[in-house]
Amino acid sequence: MTTKQHVVVVGSGIVGASIAWHLARQGASVTVVAENSGGVATPCSFAWINASWGNPKFYFHFRRRSMGEWRRLAGELPGLPLSWNGSIGWDLPPDRLEAFAAEHGSWGYGIERIGREQISVREPYLKIVPELALSVAEEGAVEPVAAARLMLADAEARGAKSVTAAVSGLIRSGDRISGVVTSAGMIEADHVVLACGAGSPPLAASIGIVLPIETPPGLIVHSRPCEKRLNGLVMSPELHMRQTAEGRIVAGGDFGGAEPGADQQATASALFAKLRESLTDGQSLAMDFFTVGYRPTPKDGLPIIGNACDGLYIAVMHSGITLAPLAGLLASSEILGGNEDAVLAPYRLSRFG
Ligand SMILES: Cc1cc2nc3c(=O)[nH]c(=O)nc-3n(C[C@H](O)[C@H](O)[C@H](O)COP(=O)(O)OP(=O)(O)OC[C@H]3O[C@@H](n4cnc5c(N)ncnc54)[C@H](O)[C@@H]3O)c2cc1C
Repeated sequence: MTTKQHVVVVGSGIVGASIAWHLARQGASVTVVAENSGGVATPCSFAWINASWGNPKFYFHFRRRSMGEWRRLAGELPGLPLSWNGSIGWDLPPDRLEAFAAEHGSWGYGIERIGREQISVREPYLKIVPELALSVAEEGAVEPVAAARLMLADAEARGAKSVTAAVSGLIRSGDRISGVVTSAGMIEADHVVLACGAGSPPLAASIGIVLPIETPPGLIVHSRPCEKRLNGLVMSPELHMRQTAEGRIVAGGDFGGAEPGADQQATASALFAKLRESLTDGQSLAMDFFTVGYRPTPKDGLPIIGNACDGLYIAVMHSGITLAPLAGLLASSEILGGNEDAVLAPYRLSRFG
């Protein structure tokens, strides 16, 4: 009988949770080490699952494949808080909206042009209804912290261990990384995975690896739970919004959140006022809280996924909500199988030279 490979996953946001779950499901011995269970960026996310505009074709297909992987996960993890109610959007100037529809439509994205009447049927509470919007029925959202915790709980049911601790360094044995130094002691491993979002660069730097990651902030407002106001995601020019599974309306200046500015409370109040004005009966909405998240974003916008050196695997990305299931699937297979999946070639750290 072969010994199980022991993998330490640093980070238990949506990306670490997915990698840990996929590893545990494949029979690895997994230890998840994190300071914050459920993540840091993850609880502050808008959590739109999409392959929308602004990306090259290969990355569109990668994101779209991950949208499908969320559906696979839902089959394997009953209770995943996903909603597939689609989006309507008109947040680009008409010529760019049309170019996006034509291009992504030709790539196979299920985009439909819908007029005022259909928009009002879809979202009857919208006060400002445009002449034309694009509807993408295959897009959705997930409640990200609940999803991460469900994956972690199921990984634990399959034998994974969770350790609440800060990782301060990596253990080197010759040329390979063989474990982590944590506030709860040293943990040895066959493989270490850095899936710790904005916390990844300092750990990588401790062994001389540069991770070119930026962390732009994004402010999102959350209403108190209220009766059904939105059926799906609404991407209007100055406001992206959706209603969560527990009935909160969450909104940002766009999905990446508003620029918080010097006075975060004032920014949140102004954003919430805009949200109230955009919906019929919006004045009855009350803001509960706002979040400011820092989006772990590699400098060219594409994910970083792959081996950084012997024993060390790195998975840091924006759009981690969209990409978590596919990143987990591919990373676990590369780590345990020792293979290199060609689909990950554009996402290697080595592209930065
Ligand atoms: C405002 C905003 C809106 C967004 N909107 C979307 C969207 O609509 N769609 C989408 O797909 N993506 C979106 N994103 C991006 C997405 O949320 C992130 O890509 C994703 O949450 C990153 O998850 P993660 O697991 O990599 O990191 P995180 O959630 O940041 O988790 C990091 C984990 O690592 C741990 N950690 C870090 N350093 C250490 C250390 N030294 N020792 C121990 N533990 C450590 C933390 O405790 C935590 O558990 C948005 C992000 C923000 C902030």
